[in-house]
Amino acid sequence: MALVSQQLARQGKRVGLVPTMGALHEGHLSLIRRSASQNDAVIVTVFVNPLQFGPREDFARYPRNLARDVRLSRAAGADIVFAPSSRALYPSGFQTRIDVDRLSERWEGRSRPGHFRGVATVVTLLFQVTRPTNAYFGQKDYQQALIIQRLARDLQLSVKVHVLPTVREPDGVAMSSRNAYLTSAQREQAAVLPRALRAARARILAGERRARSILSRVRRLIRQATDARIDYAAIVDARTLEPQPRLHGRVAILLAVWIGRTRLIDNLLVDVP
Ligand code: AMP
Repeated sequence: MALVSQQLARQGKRVGLVPTMGALHEGHLSLIRRSASQNDAVIVTVFVNPLQFGPREDFARYPRNLARDVRLSRAAGADIVFAPSSRALYPSGFQTRIDVDRLSERWEGRSRPGHFRGVATVVTLLFQVTRPTNAYFGQKDYQQALIIQRLARDLQLSVKVHVLPTVREPDGVAMSSRNAYLTSAQREQAAVLPRALRAARARILAGERRARSILSRVRRLIRQATDARIDYAAIVDARTLEPQPRLHGRVAILLAVWIGRTRLIDNLLVDVP
């Protein structure tokens, strides 16, 4: 992969990178299509990164189907699917880690210790190996996208990081490989996440500025789903991810909710009028 990337760079080609963990869905495909429209060569990486999973998380059972991922990637405009082994990315003796400090502290970082260190490390490695002109990430993982933008800026990488809108199912549920874990009853209940996000946005647009009041309504709504348990619900400054007691500027409404034994995240950005 490194040799091919060098060749592409020598030929002056614009390279678009779409990092994924596979189990591709329309969310991933939207990133690949955008990448194909803005670059001369598109590399999709498929790698279930052990570094970003906690010891009690779903690394072992995460869905894997490389043949399907290759087919879908090609159809969406990918030129190369890079699916390295763990050994290839982390040969024995590997011990370097990348940490993006403050942005990693809260929310996903608090609930999943070490997660963003794993993400930042693998993305840095993938950037090194593929040398992209552009890289594409989803707003679905909003904190991750901010961390990667920060990392690219701090390390003065030449890649331009793009963050694309969340692709949703007809009932509003954000597409996610983890939706496959849900029973059909749980899948229906998962619609409380986008419903709660939209209700929160409506309150903001109606003039409510107290985060506490909005969040108590959000929590009430989510509790209506019998299998739902809230990990966190927050309204934060969209750039720093710090909680905002009184809302102003651009805010992100962040949700992490367990539906049974499946943990789902979602978010919405709102410009406070
Ligand atoms: P993953 O395979 O879950 O690591 O996701 C790979 C990339 O796809 C990340 O940049 C995600 O943010 C993005 N992504 C995942 N789900 C969606 C979605 N529903 N809409 C848009 N992008 C997504």
